[in-house]
Amino acid sequence: MSEERTAPLRFAVLQLSGCAGCEVSLLNASEWVDKHRLLYMPLVISAYDIPEVDILLVSGGIRTDDDLYNLRRAVSRAKQVIAVGTCAISGGVANLGDRDEVRALFMAQAERRHLPRLLPKCRPVDAVVNVDLYLPGCPPTPELFMAALFRPPDFKVGRIVCAECGRKKLKDMRPKHLRGIEHGQVLSDICLVNQGYLCVGTSVRGGCRALCTRPGHPCVGCRGPSDALIEGSSAAWFSTISRVFASMTDIPPEEIDAALRSPQLSLFLFQFSDYAGGDRPPRPKEKVL
Ligand code: SF4
Ligand code: SF4
Repeated sequence: MSEERTAPLRFAVLQLSGCAGCEVSLLNASEWVDKHRLLYMPLVISAYDIPEVDILLVSGGIRTDDDLYNLRRAVSRAKQVIAVGTCAISGGVANLGDRDEVRALFMAQAERRHLPRLLPKCRPVDAVVNVDLYLPGCPPTPELFMAALFRPPDFKVGRIVCAECGRKKLKDMRPKHLRGIEHGQVLSDICLVNQGYLCVGTSVRGGCRALCTRPGHPCVGCRGPSDALIEGSSAAWFSTISRVFASMTDIPPEEIDAALRSPQLSLFLFQFSDYAGGDRPPRPKEKVL
């Protein structure tokens, strides 16, 4: 990461099609209040137009013509652009909804006035504008927001979630089937994979301080792939996770494969690779926090 920023910053938050979870996470951080100036964020500040800023945070995917217009306008007034969260990087929930029945539902309401026009496909922010930094997470934690905005020198991201988790991996505890999180007691201190839970923290980038796994919820991969996988395909990510389960468990590979393809997991396991799609170059790992 580059040098810490100490001078007051002017920053703005542009929300495209998403759920506003990223904005709520930013509001849960208080370090920037009184030190830096938030000039635009429709969720909390009424402002007619997007001002000139040092940093523009963009959340959400490009799903409507309003999204496209607002993004282009905001970026032309920003010195630096940070794509924040799964939706800005990979489409997220708006991309999962990129299906015929959703389009039909939307069109059925076309008599409502002032609906923005749906674009043919949901696209990530960097399909349209240059992005200086990617901040993956669903949502990124308040600490990650602060690190992206102000670059504190002591901030370090664990290579993978396991490095921040602290649960022990055991050689002699090999489950035969996956367990749903609602079944049974989760043992403290022992790796969730050993307990039969589908935790993908072995190949997911750290930085979230293992927010989910420490209290006992398997990691679903919202921080995206680790550096080793970020410029590869999602197939490489799938097979890395499968290899971990083959070495630590006796769970049939087809059971793991089916679970990884569930909407909950595939939303995140496609980050940075397939969604960028076709002839687009991979996103450089140096640009990912
Ligand atoms: S519980 Fe998940 S994140 Fe923690 S050590 Fe095991 S695989 Fe890694
Ligand atoms: S533990 Fe996994 S799912 Fe939870 S915040 Fe971290 S990366 Fe996201």
